[in-house]
Parts: sequence; structure tokens; C-alpha cells
Amino acid sequence: MTTPAVLIGDGIPVRCLDGRERRYANLDCAASTSALPEVAERVATFLPWYSSVHRGAGYKSQLSTTTYEAARARVLEFAGRADRDDVAIFCRNTTEAINHLAYRLALRPGDVVLTTVVEHHANLLPWTRAATCRYVECERDGRFGVDAILAALDVPPRPRLLAITGASNVTGWMPPLAEIAAAARERGVPVLVDAAQLAPHLPLPSDVEFVAFSGHKMYAPFGTGALIGPRAAFESGDPFLAGGGAVDLVDLDEVVWTGLPDREEAGSPNVLGAVALGAAAEALPAIGWERIRTHDNALAARLLDGLRAIDGVRVLGPDRGADRLPIATFTIDGVPHALAAARLSAEFAIGVRHGCFCAHPYVVRLLALDRGELSRFRAAARRHDRCALPGAVRASAGLSTTSEEIERLLAAVATVAHTPPPAEYERDPHSGDYWPRDLSCPAPAARSIAGP
Ligand code: PMP
Repeated sequence: MTTPAVLIGDGIPVRCLDGRERRYANLDCAASTSALPEVAERVATFLPWYSSVHRGAGYKSQLSTTTYEAARARVLEFAGRADRDDVAIFCRNTTEAINHLAYRLALRPGDVVLTTVVEHHANLLPWTRAATCRYVECERDGRFGVDAILAALDVPPRPRLLAITGASNVTGWMPPLAEIAAAARERGVPVLVDAAQLAPHLPLPSDVEFVAFSGHKMYAPFGTGALIGPRAAFESGDPFLAGGGAVDLVDLDEVVWTGLPDREEAGSPNVLGAVALGAAAEALPAIGWERIRTHDNALAARLLDGLRAIDGVRVLGPDRGADRLPIATFTIDGVPHALAAARLSAEFAIGVRHGCFCAHPYVVRLLALDRGELSRFRAAARRHDRCALPGAVRASAGLSTTSEEIERLLAAVATVAHTPPPAEYERDPHSGDYWPRDLSCPAPAARSIAGP
């Protein structure tokens, strides 16, 4: 199978516990992705021309400004909003984008924001502190139906916003957004889609008011994401950040905020990040969404079927189907999630993630923790004791993941599930992570890219 892309750094060998070097398999794409070559090239080409944007009079400043604004136009196009009166605001990432929106909606504590228990903390916490949240529960398999959203939309008072994920970072499940968006529209409730996971895999929904996403999850790891929404939502009121660049006049008793988008981007922006995001926004559609979907579906099917076939492995979330990204989260009987992830790394050079994936409410539901387990976990968390955190292991694939890497993961998980570690692992009491005690395989913290 040829993959839709090869990424910068693919196939780098890393030393394993047995002293052998193995090609690193990054099965942690849902956390962050390596750069697309097109992205790295665009950044490298731009770098000699880099200068301050917007107010510089020099040639490089002017060129930087044009490039920065061209990136914004590409991002709007990527989101399917080039022909609308929308604005793309560059932010650091999805977290900042959602906090930005939560501030800009000028919510009052009594206002209701409708959201779901499936969300990442980034799409929960900004709302819980700005408004009253109403939550749509999930079924045991981690999904909810459109009817559950409809029912919650119809409870008075009417929500000021529906904040919903485009795809779960835990199970990869994609809620039926088109139907949900239509129902919200009928009721006059604006929708924010947290598209952090969706953006690298599928076209963004253009039938909702707001979308937020991160460059580092879509092959542009240079520190920029975007919040996109109608200009009207940002044209009046105080901007999220106050400072230079966002104003037309400042006196000690007066401020006149400037127009969009500068009004929402106080301070010197991350120009390289925007250039990278713009390049990814061009590169992904050029690779082709159908090609990406075919690749994702093949990987997701093998990943889920393969994991389910391993004795002692339990995959969380719905059965496989067309509505999933290539993400699988699983537990292994008798093996702590942190140890499983450490073994996959140290013995097999496979990078995965473990824990609760910044989605505590969802993960405790998927794990079906009983009251006793839940209160022990909460008590430990209050003591900042991470060793007691429940959780699971997550494998997630991206543009350059090969079926050979999925097979490698499946074989490695079977070994971890059925054979004891070949060496002793010790646990860091603060992080709860495990490391092999053997110093021939030092923790990455003891290494540097400059040398072993
Ligand atoms: N939402 C989802 C669904 C995510 O997966 C993530 C990142 N794991 C975020 C929001 C937050 O993204 P970021 O860390 O880039 O702000």
C-alpha cells in the first residue's frame, strides 16, 4: 500500500531495549503529527524573507505581510468559507481558539452552552467557567444519537451555543455532524465544531458557525491553529487579547479597537506558524480527501479488527464503521496502561499515548468505572498522584502510517499482553510513567538530537 504522504522524519531508527535499532513507528498522530515536506519547504523558502508583519515599511515586512495574509486566505478556503463573510483568526492551537471564542461570546453565568461528555477538555473547560454547561451523555459504546442532541437543544432555556467535537480524540468516533448542525440551525443555536482531530482527515463542516483546529495535528507543527467564524461575531466588543496591533487609537482614557482580523490578534503573530498552516491547508486537499479517507478506512479496519482479536485486549468505543478515524484506544488485562505504552516504546520503537487523553469524563464512561474506582481515582488526583490514574492506550494513524506499522503494533501488543517484560521497568512516582531500568536504553530525557 502506498501511503498518501511521507513525512519529515519518517522511519528514523531508534535504539530499543535489546540494543537493536528499529524504525520508529509514530502511532501517536492524534496527539501531534510530523511535518509534511510541502509545509517544511514553504517555511524554509519563506524564512530568508521573514520580518515583522503589518506595520513594517520595509520590503521584507511588506512581503511577510502579504505572505501572512495569503496564508489566512488559504485557511479560510480550507475551511470552505472563502466566499462567506467569515474571518480566520490565527491562534496558537485549538485550546486557545476555543478559549478565544468563549471570551468573545460574552457569556453570562446563566447562559447555557450545550456540549457533550465526549469532548476533549479543551472543549469543556472554557465553557464551564464562562457559562452553565448542559451535557449530552453517551451510551456505553461512547456514542450518542442525534435524538439526544435534539432533546438537549429543546430543554429551556435555549442554549447560546452548541460546542461539539467533529471527531473524538479517544475513540475516533465522528458524531453525525450534518444532522446535528441542521437541527441546531432550525432552532437558531450557533454551533462550534472542535475540529482538532477532524481537520487532518476530512473536509471541515462549512454548515456550522465556528470551527477551531490546530496546525500541529495537521502536519504543520509550527505553533499556529485557527478559529474561524462569522465576522459579525467579532466586530464589536472587547477582543480576547488587548495590546499592540489591535488598536487604531490608545490614550489613557480611550481605546479604539481596529478592524478584523487585526483586532483579534494583538501582539506580534507567529508568522512562520501561519505560513506553515497555510501550506498544510493547501497540501491536504491536493493529496485528495478521498485518497486520505480510503487510506484511513483501511488502517482503521485492520487496527480495530486486529486489536479485538488479541486475547485480553479490550477496544473502547463503537464497533468499526465508516464513522471512525484511524484511532483505537484499548486496555490490556493485567497490564497497566502506562507500562504497556512504555513497553511498546522501549521494546518495539512504537510511539503511542496512554492515560485519559485530556478527556476524563469520556474515558471514565468508556472504562465503565464503578463508584468506588471513581472515588479512589478522584482522591488520588486531588493528591496529584498520577500513578492511580485509570486509562488506556491509544494508537492513532496518519497520512504516512503504513499497514506494516499497524501489523508491527498488533504483534507488539500481543507480546505485551501475553509475555512478561524482558527487563525490569521502574515507575516515575510523579508522572506515573514507566522506564526500563536498563541503562543501555536510556530515557529520551537523557539523550539529545545532537548525539546519544
Ligand atoms: N480537541 C481535540 C478533539 C483534541 O484531540 C485536542 C488535542 N488532543 C484538542 C482539542 C486540543 O488541541 P491543542 O492541544 O492543539 O490545543
